[in-house]
Amino acid sequence: MAYSRQDAAGKVLAACRKLVSSGLIARTWGNVSARLDADSFLITPSGRAYESLTPEDLVPVSLETLKPLSEGRPSSEKGMHAVLYRQRPDVNFIVHTHQNYASALSILGQDLSIAAVRPALEPVLGQTVPTAAYGLSSTKTLAENVGAAAQAVPACRAVLMQNHGAVCFAEEDAAAFAVAEALEEASAEQYRRIVGSLLPDGADRAEPDRYYYRVLHAEVCEQYAEHYAAFEKPGVGCVIDTATPFVRKYSSLGVSMPVYIDDLAQMVGIRVSCLPAKASEIAVGKALGGVPGAVFLKGLGAVCRGRDEDDAAALCMVLEKAAMAALLAQAGAPAQRVLPAAGILEHAIYLQKYSKLKNERKG
Ligand code: 13P
Ligand code: ZN
Repeated sequence: MAYSRQDAAGKVLAACRKLVSSGLIARTWGNVSARLDADSFLITPSGRAYESLTPEDLVPVSLETLKPLSEGRPSSEKGMHAVLYRQRPDVNFIVHTHQNYASALSILGQDLSIAAVRPALEPVLGQTVPTAAYGLSSTKTLAENVGAAAQAVPACRAVLMQNHGAVCFAEEDAAAFAVAEALEEASAEQYRRIVGSLLPDGADRAEPDRYYYRVLHAEVCEQYAEHYAAFEKPGVGCVIDTATPFVRKYSSLGVSMPVYIDDLAQMVGIRVSCLPAKASEIAVGKALGGVPGAVFLKGLGAVCRGRDEDDAAALCMVLEKAAMAALLAQAGAPAQRVLPAAGILEHAIYLQKYSKLKNERKG
């Protein structure tokens, strides 16, 4: 059953709030939609902060033309939502998530066998969650790859998007959310099996910011002698020292990290370097690169800087997820990194365009 416009708006906004509070989507990434009728669906706007969304910000989109049917800039992944609505008449609600464990597993480019990992979740997730081949974010190629993966497993409820995230779909909103949660549970199980003894203590921590042992603001940066250089670039508003479990674990390896997930590539590019724990503040400032920027300090965790606290904290979150993914490669799994050409392009688009939409209002 499709949704009335009013019902769809209420359900989409409620799902956004729930997905943010459960950590399945972060910052402005991810998107949510509901089918309105045979010809259209209602979707979240592109790049906007979820906390400030109102029903008027959601955009109805034509299934056939992908054109917005009212004012507003619909999600850049509208094509992927449309492909799934066209292919699957049983689907009325779709959530595209950037959830940690599922996104980390996506870099293996392998289908996830729920039957083998968590048979108890088969009623929610089906036997297999297929993985779509890589496509640059928001492109027709990505939409087509997701469509092809979903078609290959006709009764599937979710698709992993390689080096990116997941998309979960169902007859109605609560069921789609349940799919996302179950997918994270099954993915966590599979992840633990692969990563084995590299799994850090506290891997299932509930409050990531408990591990931000220092949040430094530009207004008083003269007081931060050891991070003074981190503030020297124009536009830096906040520097966070983080030791979330996977970041800290990865830092203990003492090697730079190739970037395996698109959202980190968007923020910082294709590699995060690692410096000795006692590196000079000048070396840290230099290795941070741009704004946003990140660098590991061996055995300690990482330093993340951003335009403001929200930006730096978002970088800490995506760095944690990327470190989870990178540990799969360290454990010997056949991981695919974000290819340099793709990562460089994603980074440029993010800096020039996408990151500027966050607080944009209609009209
Ligand atoms: P939008 O903000 O355009 O919906 O895109 C977010 C995203 O996750 C892209 O893959
Ligand atoms: Zn995405």
